[in-house]
Amino acid sequence: MGTAIQKNIRHFSASYLIKTVSDCFENIPDHRPNKSSIPFGNFPKSAFAVMHQKFDSLLGFDEERLEPTCCYNLEKLYHVKEGKVPSDTRMREVLDPIDPVEFKKPFKELFSIIQRNGALQGYTFNCGKLKDHYLLPIDGTGLFYSDTSRCADCCVKNEGKKNETYYHNIMGGCLAHPNRKTVIPLAPEAICRQDGSTKNDCEKAAIRRFLAQVKKDHPRLHLVILLDGLYADNPTVAMIKEFGWHYIIVAKDGNHVALIEAMNALYDQGEVHHHTVVDAPNKTTHKFRYANNVPLNLQDETEHVNVLDYIEIDKKGIQHFWCWITDIELTNDTVESVMRGGRCRWRIENETFNTLKNQGYQLEHSYGHGEKHLATNFAYLTFLAFLVDQIQELACPQFQQALNKPKKPTRKRLWRKITSFFLTLRIDSWGSLFRAISHGSKAQDIAFDSS
Ligand SMILES: [Zn+2]
Repeated sequence: MGTAIQKNIRHFSASYLIKTVSDCFENIPDHRPNKSSIPFGNFPKSAFAVMHQKFDSLLGFDEERLEPTCCYNLEKLYHVKEGKVPSDTRMREVLDPIDPVEFKKPFKELFSIIQRNGALQGYTFNCGKLKDHYLLPIDGTGLFYSDTSRCADCCVKNEGKKNETYYHNIMGGCLAHPNRKTVIPLAPEAICRQDGSTKNDCEKAAIRRFLAQVKKDHPRLHLVILLDGLYADNPTVAMIKEFGWHYIIVAKDGNHVALIEAMNALYDQGEVHHHTVVDAPNKTTHKFRYANNVPLNLQDETEHVNVLDYIEIDKKGIQHFWCWITDIELTNDTVESVMRGGRCRWRIENETFNTLKNQGYQLEHSYGHGEKHLATNFAYLTFLAFLVDQIQELACPQFQQALNKPKKPTRKRLWRKITSFFLTLRIDSWGSLFRAISHGSKAQDIAFDSS
């Protein structure tokens, strides 16, 4: 893996990745009836810079955008032409009507860079007969709600009642691996009212659109879909099979009574298998109980699934329980891999949503609601900034060196450094920025002023 990445190292640099994103933005049709002096591409490029620099508001960006240093850096680092940076108000007006599909396109381009240049190899999941598959945890999360402002994309709670409120959710998915902290987010899918619909959207409908988009963008990718208990049902299992993929889905006692009863019946008949693995170095015991071909529920034409009950006994003797359904054949040789794969589901919550909400990105912040798609477009841009950062963290040595410079590296510290340099120093390239963070800059001291 190292060799393939090392050969193609420049493709994982911020300059290459952001140029790729900028080129996609150049292809967005200009919808303005009166073309102003600001090139159209400068609007999405500036908005992307807001997310990538982790500004916590558009106003904060607006206060900086006319500073010569900021203009210079936006042109050099984000390809904002002629230093013509739009105001926050104009940015909202122009981004609002853009079809959110336009902001999904860069995800595919960035993914193909990862794929072409050998960085996907570290994410392969092999389990029994499955070779070279990838784990794709998927989940939905809330963005924000409002009881006053509403856009065309809003879902509505308590519609027509006094306490009517409006909200946006989003569905995200990322390639993940048990041994890797970095994730590779795919294009997200807004959980929002579809064009012309008077009904709210829901996670079940959004996941079909999400998976259809994944299939369209990556038809040859072999996937194992990881989902929480909400999706352990016949329609979702059938849908994943229809797309030609596999699944590991959480099952819960309360929601899957018939499944648990079927397992208990099989247990009584001696048809449930047991397997125990003792991990001596970590003083952890893994206990597996499994059966194949179990009816998922009591419906006549129900799906039959393989069920894995799992108990982890940690070094303090505390027991942790999980249960999954899967179509991967369970044997003593596969249960440990299925367990490790299934536990990767939390990567979408912890490594993705939590990072996007609490680790410098501002996914829950309303940069602007708009009348059409503004809120959705800002959310997609936030995911896009995260993807660019994740690719660098995965495979860009300059980024890794800057991130890991302190004894206790944190992404937040790196973002703070990047933004402070961005606002105060003229920067000609991403390479020079990361070198300055890693080795110190030649910034002049501020002279003592006696006046
Ligand atoms: Zn809305």
